[in-house]
Amino acid sequence: MPAFPAFSLRSMLLTAAAAIATMAAPAQAKEAKQAPKARNIILFLGDAGGVSTINAAGILAHDKPQSLFIQSMPHVALSDTSALDKWVTDSAAGMTAIVTGHKTNNAMVSMVPGPDGALTPVKSLLEYAEQRGLSTGVVTNKPIWDATPAANYAHVAARSNKGDIFAQMLKPRFGNGVDIILGKGRKDAVAAFNAAGTTPEKAFATAGYAFGEDPALIATSPRTAVLRDSDFAPTPAVEATIGQLARNPKGYFLMVEWDMHTDDPLGGMRHVIEMDDMIRRVSAMAGPDTLILFTADHSFGLRMTGGKRDTPLAQQYDPAKPGVISVEDSHTGEEVIVAASGPGSDQVHGFMPNTRLFDIMMSALGWKKDK
Ligand SMILES: [Zn+2]
Repeated sequence: MPAFPAFSLRSMLLTAAAAIATMAAPAQAKEAKQAPKARNIILFLGDAGGVSTINAAGILAHDKPQSLFIQSMPHVALSDTSALDKWVTDSAAGMTAIVTGHKTNNAMVSMVPGPDGALTPVKSLLEYAEQRGLSTGVVTNKPIWDATPAANYAHVAARSNKGDIFAQMLKPRFGNGVDIILGKGRKDAVAAFNAAGTTPEKAFATAGYAFGEDPALIATSPRTAVLRDSDFAPTPAVEATIGQLARNPKGYFLMVEWDMHTDDPLGGMRHVIEMDDMIRRVSAMAGPDTLILFTADHSFGLRMTGGKRDTPLAQQYDPAKPGVISVEDSHTGEEVIVAASGPGSDQVHGFMPNTRLFDIMMSALGWKKDK
């Protein structure tokens, strides 16, 4: 037995404990200060992609529950989507809440009514990003002037006001506006710019954009607007967009909207699978400093009501017949999922209002809201 008197062993232990404490304390403080920040944010928005739609689409595609990439993301929450004036939101109020942190009335795009009814524009995350010199992108398989993409870059009282939405796209309030623009609505753009005495070609060229119809253009220019009237392959277009935006060392904000309305049930559910594939691919390429979020602006009246497990669901499902998947053609008011990975994603948990997504994105970037 070594002859250590009891007091001396005790004092040695205390000394050792104190030494460990002094070593550990600054390390812990340092960790707390250096909570990992996101450099980039990619917000995937499944328009009308409620839980029931995602569930049915995944089973229809894979004949397995919870087989989507979205359903493997580490952090999830349930987000209230109600509008300021209605329990069931439209895309305008739904997206305004997500990207500005303010609930508003249906049909209003990044504008909020005051007590006297006067409308005030509210600043979107994309505008904060432009102000700070980040690169920004808006990609959608819907018209580029539609409420969901427009809430990122425009402020109008009525979502139908295409003329003002196109004008504001090229007259940004912060930075030089959206750097990569990809969506549908080319004919609408022609009509809107013609009404303003110009053409989309001239207007976008004057604003410094490479302008065309082919998403392949994105790889050739850091400032590109691609407007078309037909569908495009989602994943290559989003990869090219990220390739351009990621050149900015300050980081980027990208919003990708994919239409999951199931008034055409097979079309809507196919879009769920397309976006899921896109998120899987992007998650592999985006890097550890990217916060990736998936959510919906509102849910939709699709329900799985039947189906046997021993036969592929696609063989059992006939959109014309009830009994397997039925659709009531309407937005619905229940919560939607938020799924997230990357720095700041641990804030995505529990039941939350849709406005909290804005706070989570700002906090992940380490930014404070304007007073
Ligand atoms: Zn919507």
